[in-house]
Amino acid sequence: MYRFVPPLPVANPRHTSKPCQRSDCEESTREGKPFCPQHVDHNPYAQHLLAKLEDLEREHRRVRLRGPAGVNLQGETCQEILRELGQQGRCSVARLAQTLALPYPLISSYVQALARSGRVVTSGFRRDRLQVQLSGGTPRSRRRGCIAG
Ligand SMILES: [Zn+2]
Repeated sequence: MYRFVPPLPVANPRHTSKPCQRSDCEESTREGKPFCPQHVDHNPYAQHLLAKLEDLEREHRRVRLRGPAGVNLQGETCQEILRELGQQGRCSVARLAQTLALPYPLISSYVQALARSGRVVTSGFRRDRLQVQLSGGTPRSRRRGCIAG
C-alpha cells in the first residue's frame, strides 16, 4: 500500500528566532523560545522549578538543624516518601534514604515526623533495621521490589 505522506514542515531557524525577552540582552532565541540559551533560566517554568528546589533545600537545611520539628508535612519530600512507601510497602529507612538519594539522618527525621503525625508506622530498633510503612498496613500482594533489611 502506498499512501502519500505530506512532508513535515521544516522550521527555518531564522523565522523562529526572536530577540531574548530580557530587556538588557541582545541575543536572539532559538526555536521560538522566549529567552536565549543564556537566559533560559528566566522562563516562568524554570523559575518555578528553581523556586521549588530552593524551598526544598531550605527545608532540608532546617531539618538538619532541628530534626523532625523542621519537617514540612505538606512538603515535596514527605510526599515523595509517602508515594515511595505506597509503591514499596514496608521498607527499611536505610533503603528509603538510598532510593530518594538523601542522607540517612535526614530521612530518619522525616520518618519520625511522619510517624508522629500518624501517617507511617516504624518497627525495629537498630538503626540499620528500622522499617517503615504507611500506617494502616500494606496488603501482602503489594510488597515487592524492596529489599528488606
Ligand atoms: Zn538573553
